[in-house]
Amino acid sequence: MEIRLDGKCALVTGANSGIGAEIAKMLAAAGAKVLVNFCSRPEDAERVVQVIRSAGGEAVAHQTDISNESEVKSMFAAIDDEFGGIDILINNAGIDGSRKQSWEIDPEEWKKVIDVNLMGTFYCSHHALKRMITIGSGVILSISSVHEQIAWSGYSAYTATKAGLSMMTKTMAQEAAPHGVRVLAVAPGAIKTEINKDVWSNQKHLKDLNSKIPLDRIGKVEEVAGMVVVLVSDIASYMTGATVFIDGGMTDYPDFAHGG
Ligand code: BGC
Repeated sequence: MEIRLDGKCALVTGANSGIGAEIAKMLAAAGAKVLVNFCSRPEDAERVVQVIRSAGGEAVAHQTDISNESEVKSMFAAIDDEFGGIDILINNAGIDGSRKQSWEIDPEEWKKVIDVNLMGTFYCSHHALKRMITIGSGVILSISSVHEQIAWSGYSAYTATKAGLSMMTKTMAQEAAPHGVRVLAVAPGAIKTEINKDVWSNQKHLKDLNSKIPLDRIGKVEEVAGMVVVLVSDIASYMTGATVFIDGGMTDYPDFAHGG
């Protein structure tokens, strides 16, 4: 079975690196036109666009800070102009902030994580839903994390946003279902990207990380992006409101293989 998304228009936020870049490439390979959103490092976004174009796909880079609502509004106006609308929104952009206990972190830094991960995802979903509801079709998929479920010391803002995304997904799915729009999330575990380079580039830290994963290895961006393409395609036409965990079994709590 081949998944085709020909004629579909997709926006991927934070698509200049990591999981977002791979999702953009895979959506384009399946035939979708892709708006490669980025906030910083335009050269990385251009590189993703070039990879897509040289493989015969269509892509345009667009700089927007998703935590700023008026910028998001302009990005959607640009999508209307460039693509004539939106069929697929991938809410991928996110930050984790610096690792600090809740009593040590500057509340402004804490709020920045909320502004990007939760407000930014809301702004993009809000403007996408307006359009999708009008045409009676569309799919929104947000990148959550195993940390919507697993507490993570030093990252109370990050975990709060990911748990928030879970209920935002369920609630928007309930609202949008009667209008033919599906809303989903995926929750990756440890995937090898820049965000966790400090862990996978250090043998001791990597060993500790692997001990938390039943499959005993860090995941690849393709292992998330491939599932995202399936979920936004018609193969998943009966799925909405769900969060799919792609985590090598991390949320299966491997410590319980013994004892308990
Ligand atoms: C984080 C990674 C971390 C993984 C598993 C993800 O949400 O972004 O840094 O390795 O969760 O803990």
